[in-house]
Amino acid sequence: MSDAVFCPRCGDPAPEGATGHTRRERALCNDCYFEDFDLVDRPDRVEVTVCAHCGAVERDNRWEDVGARDYTDVAIESVSEALGVHVDAEDVSWGVDPEQVDETTIRMHCQFSGVVRGEPRVEEFTVPVKIGRQTCQRCGRIAGDYYASVVQVRAVGDRTPTSEETGRAREIAEEITDSMEATGDRNAFVTEVSEKPEGLDLKLSDTKIGKNVARKLTEELGGAYDSSETLVTEDEDGNEVYRVTFAVRLPAFVPGDVIDLADDDGGPVLVRSVQGNLKGVRLTTGEPYEANHEVGDAPEARKLGTREDAAETTLVAVEDENAVQVLDPETYASVTVARPDYLDTDDAEVPVLKSRAGLHVLPS
Ligand SMILES: [Zn+2]
Ligand SMILES: [Zn+2]
Repeated sequence: MSDAVFCPRCGDPAPEGATGHTRRERALCNDCYFEDFDLVDRPDRVEVTVCAHCGAVERDNRWEDVGARDYTDVAIESVSEALGVHVDAEDVSWGVDPEQVDETTIRMHCQFSGVVRGEPRVEEFTVPVKIGRQTCQRCGRIAGDYYASVVQVRAVGDRTPTSEETGRAREIAEEITDSMEATGDRNAFVTEVSEKPEGLDLKLSDTKIGKNVARKLTEELGGAYDSSETLVTEDEDGNEVYRVTFAVRLPAFVPGDVIDLADDDGGPVLVRSVQGNLKGVRLTTGEPYEANHEVGDAPEARKLGTREDAAETTLVAVEDENAVQVLDPETYASVTVARPDYLDTDDAEVPVLKSRAGLHVLPS
């Protein structure tokens, strides 16, 4: 006896080539088959949870930024995902039409059509969508001033970090959090930036950001950092949370400083760079100076002034290959000074720095 000759429900002959998911369904005649047939399997309602502050949507216990201003698109997507078209249907076409009832309710009018067992089928129905407003983890943390690391930007010795240095520290923190956000890390943000008399404090949402800021800052501006951990609390899931402090010590000297090196009679040095080790130029000769590896960016020296302290003065005469005469910018007396090789003798005026070490021509 063949399986599919008679309908097991009503006893009528089953159609030739009947479709069905199971052997029993395949055996049913069309009337019995369509009796409890749904073209579309659908939920009674769909709930969508969004963050009331940033508009992120919760999916599978994760928050995702969708960049949607209103939630119609989100509702359409959620309803579409929740609907299942019967596997036996062919030539399926469908459309949804959202009707905004109020701020948190959307009625999704859906229309589906398809061909099943050779018969065209149409189904129209409405799925209510409820928008639930909550606060995502990121917004909750921002509102609670959450932070997991602090970068303290300080300088060695008695100087305080310059505004260029603290400005760069802020920029680096923004760059790092922006690039983490761009790769989908929602919990990367700068919690707080505070100016201190001794420098700058950056509070950051993640220890990784703190470490990257400290590393990038010292790579660019020289100096070093160390880190220390303190157990502060437990997070939402009961995990222990350590807060890590990164103490950055920027070098004693910055580019533009004029320094007098200890135990050295080569004359003052204009600092050009403190990346890795201190590099500069001798103001007496114009020759390059570079601190050795052990000394790095911290040679023993005293600061004589900075490039900003320089004054333009008249180049009076060239004496020989080692000396020129300039006007002292304070006394206007003509004085003989060292002639560095960067000095252009065609210039009528040259920048000079008057310091404890005397008068020196700076590179222009
Ligand atoms: Zn039947
Ligand atoms: Zn949010």
